[in-house]
Amino acid sequence: MEFSESLKTIDLELQNDFRERKLYSRYLHQSYNRLHKKSMSIGIDFEKKHNNVKSCAGFLDFSKTNTDAFKLKRANFCKDKLCPMCAWRRSKKIYSQVHTVVDYLKNDYQFIMLTLTVRNVTAPFLSDTLDKLNKSFAKMLKYKAFSRICKGYLKCLEITYNREHDTYHPHFHVLIAVDKDYFRSDYYLHQSDYLAMWQKATKDKSITQVDVRKIHYNPNRPELSNISSAVAEVAKYSVKPSDYIFTDNKILTDSVVYTFSSVLLNRRLVSWGGCFADVRKFFGLDDVVDGDLLHTDNQLAYGEVVAIYHYRWSHGKYKLYAIDYPQRIILSDPDNNFLFDADTGEVLEGVIT
Ligand SMILES: [Zn+2]
Repeated sequence: MEFSESLKTIDLELQNDFRERKLYSRYLHQSYNRLHKKSMSIGIDFEKKHNNVKSCAGFLDFSKTNTDAFKLKRANFCKDKLCPMCAWRRSKKIYSQVHTVVDYLKNDYQFIMLTLTVRNVTAPFLSDTLDKLNKSFAKMLKYKAFSRICKGYLKCLEITYNREHDTYHPHFHVLIAVDKDYFRSDYYLHQSDYLAMWQKATKDKSITQVDVRKIHYNPNRPELSNISSAVAEVAKYSVKPSDYIFTDNKILTDSVVYTFSSVLLNRRLVSWGGCFADVRKFFGLDDVVDGDLLHTDNQLAYGEVVAIYHYRWSHGKYKLYAIDYPQRIILSDPDNNFLFDADTGEVLEGVIT
């Protein structure tokens, strides 16, 4: 691959994936800063959160291999639960981990997807409601009818915000592994059975909906499979940035950011159980929330690294400032107009546009 083509390839990724999120994340760190100044920091260090999100992905290093593959090699991700950049990396990572696990299990199990909800609540009741959701799910796992069929699960928390009513809607997306013969067995559960169990577990008869869907997978007709869309559904963001960043309303942004920050503190967003947990362990997959956000695709071997491209965030853009080759270092001039060889001073023609 030509030198300038390499630059174009990385530039496209920077433009499409990183730049918009980096720009968008400033609404969050500005909100954290206002919350810090308002001394809204009871139990939460908003100043630290402001600094973390502000510096998130401030530098990105991409490696290029002898097979012309590019891969993010180093970056400073802040891992804040609300950071738009990190939420995107985390969602990619959950997606690939679930794919790995489901792929491994799909010949021995079938899968169903459950969406478990409770009524919308206002901010002061959100934290207690999340506790209640967790306890209710733990209870449901112990019900005989459910424990008999559930061989493994992945449970992801999602909370949406309803701006019109100023309420929060917490719910779980749960992917469940069941035996191959489940759909023809005496243990088969109807939608009404799941609803009755969830009403019992939550002690809330006013819940009228539990969404249950079969995930289709047929090795002979893979085109009919909806595994990928089901995996995408569970791997969605726990909280969508557009549900707390309101570019037209700072007061509302601060209030919703404050609520989400306080209820998500020390709270688990994703849990794995049974055969799902076993396979994760078997593959040695790291934690999706606290783990590294660089490697989101579980692939290790890409070929031999032949160059490393270093980018820095500056004035609303990612700018290339150096390229490391095993025998040579290329640097950018301070204004990022041209590149030159650090040893010989030779200028590389026409590489920065
Ligand atoms: Zn971040």
